[in-house]
Amino acid sequence: MAVSNINGSGKLYVVATPIGNLADISFRAVEILKKVDLIAAEDTRHVKMLLQHYGIINKLVSLHQYNEDKASLVMLEKLREGLSIALVSDAGTPLLSDPGMPLVKMVKDAGLDVVPIPGACALIAALSASGLPVTQFSFEGFLPRTSSARKAFFTERLNSPKTWVFYESCHRILAALQDMAEVLPLEREIVIARELTKLHETIVKASLGDALDLVMHSENMRKGEFVVIVDGAAVDKEAQVMTPEQEKVLRVLLAECSIKSAVAMAVEITGVRKKVLYQAALVIDRDKKDQLICY
Ligand code: SAM
Repeated sequence: MAVSNINGSGKLYVVATPIGNLADISFRAVEILKKVDLIAAEDTRHVKMLLQHYGIINKLVSLHQYNEDKASLVMLEKLREGLSIALVSDAGTPLLSDPGMPLVKMVKDAGLDVVPIPGACALIAALSASGLPVTQFSFEGFLPRTSSARKAFFTERLNSPKTWVFYESCHRILAALQDMAEVLPLEREIVIARELTKLHETIVKASLGDALDLVMHSENMRKGEFVVIVDGAAVDKEAQVMTPEQEKVLRVLLAECSIKSAVAMAVEITGVRKKVLYQAALVIDRDKKDQLICY
């Protein structure tokens, strides 16, 4: 297994590590972690446990979100000098809601090799066991932290036909589901994948209403690490639905501009389909005219 290039520069290996169960690592990943000249790790103490488990002794340097710009420059120099480096995060695949993006970009831009060593990823593990459509999905990383930003986030995705997935922590799982229930229909199917590959692994597929009820009433369902998957909107049924907030936006715009401009702007702001907004605008406009006639 070559860890350097013919031109003498080293290779950067992006190595996936387990998301809980230490056995979830590839033979190739273990070999690479043994052979590289150094391992750039998000938390060096954390990765030491994995290395000890596999009897790997190697040099560790830290590369985390607070030092990654500077540390990446140092790593690039080392690669140019011919050293090979493995990039690992605390769990799963680096860069997926984890550090590493600046380093990988820098190394690619410099024309050096970046080699993926695939393996565990909470997003993919959860999707694979969810039973929801995975042909097309969108990964949203972590949700915004404030309730208003979360509701805006859900509103934007209300009519999306794709499955969407996000990561959430135990501190915010309940609040996230409560906000979701204020925006999405309670019958929408979701999957909560908790503590994947660990002792208390739980994968619940239920309607949003039932899932919220479960998380609200079971303390265990608020513990650990979470991936939440939301079924896409059934296009024909839900594309006709607008939230009260979306309708309000349309009404405000209609009070100021022509139907055409109001609809065009509302498409941009709400993400609701033009046809749906246009039909709603016609109804609002007709009601307005009817009221004028009555007076
Ligand atoms: N890079 C990682 C990956 O490939 O999945 C994700 C890192 S991100 C900082 C950590 C988040 O991923 C957690 O807060 C949780 O949402 C999700 N996660 C990680 N491990 C998990 C597990 N075993 N079960 C469920 N979710 C997990």
